[in-house]
Amino acid sequence: MTTPNDNLYFQNVQSPLIREWFAETLARYPELHNRPIYLRKLSMKRSTMRAQPIINWSFFRRATRHYRVDFSDHLDVTKHVIVQDLPKEVVVGWFAHELGHIIDYLNRPVLGMISFGLGYALWSRYMRKAERIADTIAVEHGFGDEVRATKAYLLQHATLPFNYKRRLNKYYLSADELEGLILAWEQEQNIPEVVDIEE
Ligand SMILES: [Zn+2]
Repeated sequence: MTTPNDNLYFQNVQSPLIREWFAETLARYPELHNRPIYLRKLSMKRSTMRAQPIINWSFFRRATRHYRVDFSDHLDVTKHVIVQDLPKEVVVGWFAHELGHIIDYLNRPVLGMISFGLGYALWSRYMRKAERIADTIAVEHGFGDEVRATKAYLLQHATLPFNYKRRLNKYYLSADELEGLILAWEQEQNIPEVVDIEE
């Protein structure tokens, strides 16, 4: 299952499990196999995990753009969510969602990326749409169970700060919406069996 990705780089990620789980998740995104992908741990106050293109010379050509997934070890966040301590399913669901964002970015040219960044910051409907796309892509890559586990964990986690939960409700798909996506995908997967062509 774990095909090593020659283009996968870890920055400040010590946990061998986190490295392994990320590589496993990435292995199921063939679109990303020839791309430089970074996983970095750093101190972020406002978010737990995020995915972004790396702004360097390669950024200006979609074909060569590099991408990075960051996760936080900032105390305010890790007081509530310590990525290393989460069950595998929850972490994989989270990574799958972030890689979903990257697949979404792959299709956006430079101007699209810039306006996407602005739209994300300025327009909550835009952000909701981006989150839906990321979840949809993760489900389409077979991570429905894991994304469901991540959502359930975050929603049920009683100690998360109120603001964080409010953001979850405002921007992210509800459990029911996600269930709808998973169901639709499962039905799509089953279509060939249902309409079996007789010989
Ligand atoms: Zn997201």
